[in-house]
Amino acid sequence: MKKLFTAAIFCLAIAPIAGHSHNVQIPKNIDELVLTKMTDSVYVVHGIIGMPDKNNKGFISNSGFVVSSEGVVIVDTGGSLQIGEMLLQKIQEVTSKPVIAVFNTHLHGDHWLGNVAFRKAYPDVPIYAHERAIERLSNGEAEQWLDIFTQATNNTIEGTTIVLPDHALKGGESIDIAGSTYKIHHTGHAHTDNDIMIEYPKDKTLFSGDIVIYGSMVSGARPEDFSAKGQIKAVEYALSLPIDIYVPGHGPTGGREIPEATKRFLEVLYASVQRYYDEGLEDFEMRDKVIADLKEFSDWSGFDRIGSLINSVYLQVEAAEFE
Ligand SMILES: [Zn+2]
Ligand SMILES: [Zn+2]
Repeated sequence: MKKLFTAAIFCLAIAPIAGHSHNVQIPKNIDELVLTKMTDSVYVVHGIIGMPDKNNKGFISNSGFVVSSEGVVIVDTGGSLQIGEMLLQKIQEVTSKPVIAVFNTHLHGDHWLGNVAFRKAYPDVPIYAHERAIERLSNGEAEQWLDIFTQATNNTIEGTTIVLPDHALKGGESIDIAGSTYKIHHTGHAHTDNDIMIEYPKDKTLFSGDIVIYGSMVSGARPEDFSAKGQIKAVEYALSLPIDIYVPGHGPTGGREIPEATKRFLEVLYASVQRYYDEGLEDFEMRDKVIADLKEFSDWSGFDRIGSLINSVYLQVEAAEFE
């Protein structure tokens, strides 16, 4: 009897590790940031849901890291020097090992502007990103992101400078970093044209970047960058991998329910816009109807700004008509 009781307790105790999102704390402000241990070696610091401002200093997306025998591999570095330094402190809470590799999942500023802190602490650390991210950032978009974040945070991210990724990926690579394998996935134009998802097979973990978003509007911050159909395909691909733990770009880490919600959001959005397009409505005329179709997601952050997302999908539906 006692054994059975112990077994039951054990099951309860491991349930959160299986990745149920309700056990993950999403901070409301910068003082509440916590390190969440997902497996023996995977940790996530969840960002604040919202837009960059002077309080969150651009920490609006998730950063995850893997502690391996030789050192630490981090995926996404936050939106400023200050956030990068905070992440370095969080890493030091669990290990004194050095950071030996950095990944940036795509070119949006919240995912790479913290690189400067990692380069300062580890001058030789390689920073990986998709080749198209490096190309676009090198051609003026890096400066634009720094300007956007500097203004949005009321100049409170002083010292943040541009440190570009320097190791180009195409997708399909298997990278060995100090004895651990990381698989790189790129399925074409999705959230952007330069997304990579990083799989850590040892712990069945996928760092999806903004391919997977939960709790805020999917691709709503930069709708002009995304392809709804492409992102649906990318999420389906993510769901086809042998993964237990999905670390989204924004929102709680969890199991399959996280990418499944992203997929549902995109499918309902696309189908709704397509339907009203077929009925002859303009994007502004279908707004309230699309919002009604998406009511399951009405509490997701940024829902009040859905007009630009509808506009983007409307243009995508229109373009598909002429393919
Ligand atoms: Zn993001
Ligand atoms: Zn993004």
